Amino acid sequence: MQDQIDRLRHLPIAPQSLFIGGDWSEPLDGAVLEVVSPIDGTRLTTIADAGSGDVDRAVRAARAAFDKGSWSKAAPSQRKKILLRIAELIERDALELAVLGVRDNGTEMAMALKAEPGSAAATFRYYAEAVDKVYGEIAPTAGDVLGLIHREPVGVVAAIVPWNFPMMIGAWKIAPALAAGNSVVLKPAEVASLSLLKLAALCAEAGLPEGVFNVVTGRGAVTGEALGLHMDIDVLAFTGSGGVGRRLLEYSARSNLKRVYLELGGKSPNIVFADAPDLDRAAKVSAHGIFRNAGQVCVAGSRLLVQNSIREAFAEKLAAIAAGMKVGDPLQLATEIGAVSSEVQLKKDLAYADQALAEGGRLLTGGRRILEETGGYYMQPTIFDITPQMTLAKEEVFGPILSIIPFETEAEAVAIANASDYGLASAVWTSNLSRAHRMIRAIRAGVVHVNTYGGADNTVPLGGVKQSGNGHDKSLHALDKYTDLKTAWIQL
Ligand code: NAD
Repeated sequence: MQDQIDRLRHLPIAPQSLFIGGDWSEPLDGAVLEVVSPIDGTRLTTIADAGSGDVDRAVRAARAAFDKGSWSKAAPSQRKKILLRIAELIERDALELAVLGVRDNGTEMAMALKAEPGSAAATFRYYAEAVDKVYGEIAPTAGDVLGLIHREPVGVVAAIVPWNFPMMIGAWKIAPALAAGNSVVLKPAEVASLSLLKLAALCAEAGLPEGVFNVVTGRGAVTGEALGLHMDIDVLAFTGSGGVGRRLLEYSARSNLKRVYLELGGKSPNIVFADAPDLDRAAKVSAHGIFRNAGQVCVAGSRLLVQNSIREAFAEKLAAIAAGMKVGDPLQLATEIGAVSSEVQLKKDLAYADQALAEGGRLLTGGRRILEETGGYYMQPTIFDITPQMTLAKEEVFGPILSIIPFETEAEAVAIANASDYGLASAVWTSNLSRAHRMIRAIRAGVVHVNTYGGADNTVPLGGVKQSGNGHDKSLHALDKYTDLKTAWIQL
């Protein structure tokens, strides 16, 4: 496979256009953005920088398709057929899609193959299979009336997604929205649009009617804002930072009160008790749980809470694993940590490391930029021993930096874990079943892993509490975001 990857990595990439109404088109003012590869800092191509006029064209195309009904009113079995075909086409082109995505955002290839085309195909398949199995309801009324609860598509859905896993997160929104019969306008992140543009081509090839799926690329503050303020979008589904999430709520309030679903950041506690079943495995999985994709994972276990009696030994194990991880060219299959997605992000990560040192954090390993001679953006996996008062314990870095915080008792672990504005993911390592269940109940987060970290599949929801957001991706619950309930009350 490495041979094929090496061939694909050098293919030229044509300048990219917008995908609107089933066709490729240039932005009205012809504006473009440069696409730079984080692997070596070279220019890959350009993407279109859509303005509000382009966004309006895309929303109008989506609305026209919805009103026409060739998708929204199609038999579920017909929608299922096309969604399954999209999954097949993603699998057919998986390697090409993964290489394209990695050239764009720097995720290590072995992971990207699974997490990007692999996960996106599985997601399309999951919702394709669900589409003719989700029914309305009949209410338990008195005998002379009939109460029917219909589930209807909401209309036009806008999806705004980040750069860390564009295909995976894109599919989490696009697939259930399409399955429910909606039209979609997608805005990828400006530093990771290429694989999602290719997905648009695959949707057309699969026979998705024109206008049902549209892609507008461009800057968040322009293209994204135009979507947020548009008067004819019914639902806006977002994954990204809390700051942008707040803006989207404001846009909604200032425009048509579109429903806004937010999947935001995290500062997830990964709690290791001295009675964990296998401390070596806990250390290995915890390292993967923070450092994969250079720490640019919303559910990353970035706060490691370790019980005092094993603190030194566990920190040493972890530091040794981190120091041995292979950082570098993400297109080499053996690479364990790829490039940080952009120079801007790398600078932010390094600034957090400097700040941790300045606040008195003890650096156990890493902390520096490496491989600068490649022109790419690489950082050593970094571990700090800190206290809960330091910035690293509170703010999401979204980079390869782990902070270790000690605790003594279960109650103290819960208090530290919950002392966060975020509530996305968490983990508990223990062989005490009762403690595991107590912790599941006590931790305020959307997911609690027990004796593992990550890997949850499409059958379970992903969503945050507190400032990690609202609503859920994945599972049948995701369909709630993209359907409206309508009551029919019938006198018999
Ligand atoms: P970001 O918020 O900067 O950008 C996300 C998207 O919003 C991009 O497409 C961007 O162009 C767009 N955007 C930016 N400004 C906008 C504006 N004013 N109006 C409308 N759209 C705008 O986030 P990012 O840096 O791409 O991603 C990292 C963040 O995403 C982290 O906080 C991470 O935790 C979060 N994230 C969360 C999940 C989850 O499922 N909860 C998953 C992945 C990433």
